[in-house]
Amino acid sequence: MFDMSLTEEQMILQQNVREFVQKKITPVANKYDQSGEFPWEVINELIAMDLHCMPVPVEYGGPGLDAVSCALLAEELGKGDAGIATTIAANGLTSYPVMLAGTPEQKKMYFDILMQGKLAGFCLTEPNAGSDAGGVMTTAVREGDEYVLNGTKCFITNGGVADVYTVFANVDIKKGIRGLSAFIVERSREGVQVGQEEDKMGIRTSNTTEVIFKNVRVPADHLLGREGEGFKIAMQTLDVARPMVGAISVGLAQSALDLAINYSKERRQFGKPIASLQAIQFMLADMAIQIEAARSMVYRACYLIDAKKPHGKEAAIAKVFASDMAMQVTTDAVQVFGGYGYSRQYPVEKLMRDAKIMQIFEGTNQIQRVVIAGQILR
Ligand SMILES: Cc1cc2nc3c(=O)[nH]c(=O)nc-3n(C[C@H](O)[C@H](O)[C@H](O)COP(=O)(O)OP(=O)(O)OC[C@H]3O[C@@H](n4cnc5c(N)ncnc54)[C@H](O)[C@@H]3O)c2cc1C
Repeated sequence: MFDMSLTEEQMILQQNVREFVQKKITPVANKYDQSGEFPWEVINELIAMDLHCMPVPVEYGGPGLDAVSCALLAEELGKGDAGIATTIAANGLTSYPVMLAGTPEQKKMYFDILMQGKLAGFCLTEPNAGSDAGGVMTTAVREGDEYVLNGTKCFITNGGVADVYTVFANVDIKKGIRGLSAFIVERSREGVQVGQEEDKMGIRTSNTTEVIFKNVRVPADHLLGREGEGFKIAMQTLDVARPMVGAISVGLAQSALDLAINYSKERRQFGKPIASLQAIQFMLADMAIQIEAARSMVYRACYLIDAKKPHGKEAAIAKVFASDMAMQVTTDAVQVFGGYGYSRQYPVEKLMRDAKIMQIFEGTNQIQRVVIAGQILR
């Protein structure tokens, strides 16, 4: 069993972020969703509060938040805008390879960049290596005391707005997955190019681009861990990061439920609010049940991470359940709004579009089931 109660610091963080979201994100979320512009005004405020570098350890100048606190932040941001929550969560995702495998010197080099108020991007996916992360074709060839990187990454969150990346490249393609290796690569290095930006159906406030490496030279001390440890580092990273996708899903689903509750009390049909209809009441109750279940799974996975206990299966379960739940709950919220739910003048269709990506990134929900099945059949 584990204690679900929050510490005083966690409650203060939750309250502060909640107020920030209500004042600064909710009022502008639809404007940015329509324009597809990157919301620098909001991101810069989050950076000023050091909320862009949640897990950066205190000894490297960061807030050193535990996984539960990171999830609280992700959930609250997810209530306001899942794209902004994704931008911030991607900084955590990019940082975990450094936290897990970096030397003290590498941590200082990397965290110094983040603590200057910069964003980061996790570069694993390629056009022919999505679910099959072992199929990465980006190469890293050792030349003296440098590596030379060549390849194209796609769908990289923060790709065009980051100043530093963690990049997965193969030091020996013949070795396949056993050649995969992880590197810190600064955006300022010659040969790093930002390619096409995705025009997405949802999380439109999140920047997603190709990142291209053309003869990019990095010092050998930018290799994280040893050559060939990249796949292990990537998988351990995703085990820590997946509950954050779950937390964002819980936040956006909670917003959908709150909106549906308010609307059902205001909207009158047959001479009474639709909230008095049992069909609507049961739909709202089912939404609440699913959100509560997902929230418990997300925080349990985070608790296990903080307690340094095995958590890979629980992280995958939390991610898959919470994201499937968010898709269902946001779809039901559109249903509660009826025809108005389908209109862009009302906020629930955005939540439905935003929810979809939660089932796809950081390993599709089919891949999560592969992970879970692998663990329970072991
Ligand atoms: C908005 C956005 C942001 C992203 N951010 C990042 C990022 O920051 N960094 C990064 O590295 N990547 C990122 N990604 C990439 C994302 O992680 C991949 O899109 C995802 O892992 C799926 O890969 P794919 O798109 O190539 O799909 P594919 O792997 O081609 O999958 C297609 C379909 O086949 C299914 N499938 C594939 N293999 C199996 C299997 N073995 N068993 C069952 N079903 C299977 C999948 O579930 C899916 O339904 C992002 C993607 C998007 C859209």
